[in-house]
Amino acid sequence: MTASLPFASRLSKVETSAIRELFKLLGKPGIISFAGGFPDAAMFDVDGIREAANAALEQEPGAALQYGATEGYGPLREQIASMMAGKGVRGVQANDLIVTTGSQQALDLIGKTMISPGDKVIVEGPTFLATIQCFRLYGAELISAPVDGEGVQPDALEDLIREHQPKLVYLIPTFGNPTGATLTLERRKRVLALAAKYQTLFVEDDPYGDLYFDAPPPPSMLALSSEVDGSRDWLVHCGSLSKVLSPGLRVGWLVGPKSLMANAVMCKQFSDAHTSTFAQATAAQYLHSGRMPDTLAKVRKVYAERARTMCDALERELGTALSFVRPGGGLFVWGRLTGQGGKVADGNEFAKRAIEQGVAFVPGTPFFAADADKATLRLSFATADLQRIEEGVQKLARAL
Ligand code: PMP
Repeated sequence: MTASLPFASRLSKVETSAIRELFKLLGKPGIISFAGGFPDAAMFDVDGIREAANAALEQEPGAALQYGATEGYGPLREQIASMMAGKGVRGVQANDLIVTTGSQQALDLIGKTMISPGDKVIVEGPTFLATIQCFRLYGAELISAPVDGEGVQPDALEDLIREHQPKLVYLIPTFGNPTGATLTLERRKRVLALAAKYQTLFVEDDPYGDLYFDAPPPPSMLALSSEVDGSRDWLVHCGSLSKVLSPGLRVGWLVGPKSLMANAVMCKQFSDAHTSTFAQATAAQYLHSGRMPDTLAKVRKVYAERARTMCDALERELGTALSFVRPGGGLFVWGRLTGQGGKVADGNEFAKRAIEQGVAFVPGTPFFAADADKATLRLSFATADLQRIEEGVQKLARAL
């Protein structure tokens, strides 16, 4: 007999992700997966990372293998600061950011430092599933703000802020997960003005901004915050090397108001003490080596081709049964079943039928914190090659 353990009450607020349950089905041989939320392993610059790891061990074995500062490894903080400066971020020095164990930890630290049970938090509807779960674990009551093909709608967001006076607002403004949508320049400025006007903390989660296809996205809200009076004081920005270099390195970062950073560092001390020094030294060497621009050019090109192939095939094979906006970057196409011509209109039902046809994707429902739109679904074009994408979309058409 197994004894039942008296788990913390906070666990009642979360459940195992529906996506994980779906992943169990992916073991089926031959299945084409559009379900993952990760980059293609074939894209990893293994030689470059090997050289960087060797350089870290040769040049700084003490730092790479010893305990390190909670705030992060100095040379990596320098590299990240200069990378951000290259993308128009002004006034952020190495000391103004902390390295986190993936941007996932940055989000966790924001939750840990800011959210008390019962606090209201506004997120996009839909948004990144792990953030929903993480903020709920801290007791947040989530409120869902409407989005369209250009990201969150500022007027509706302002109404929600007035009504709920949230503790914070969490946005993925660039090639969002799951929508692939990008907030326009004009909306970014309006959203920053809302942060300053209502003195409300805004989180900009930005792991995908570098993964653009044809043209770069508008500058990050962090970059634009120097143009919108008072907004920098109410903005926290999370970045990551996961989608452009390697998620296994677990290197992310957090830039925010000084008081928040101090509390985040304190909480990180009690959590993992610091992000792996070996991973940080390897990442620092990699960024120093100058290989990043070529790596970025390569991943952008490959994902752009895959996205185009998937969108063309979806239009051709599914026609008016699925509506979607072509993403300008990132890893995802977000679609909505129209039900036209008597075709299936429920994402969960479609996902089941698709698995039977040998193709997997994630239905949209779990990405909503409230009022889920059951007709939605997320397709990732990142990990299948062009031929498999074509085949997978044909299978989707058969499942309609
Ligand atoms: N934010 C978003 C929107 C994501 O999609 C992901 C990864 N799926 C993360 C944060 C976390 O990424 P990491 O911890 O690997 O940096």
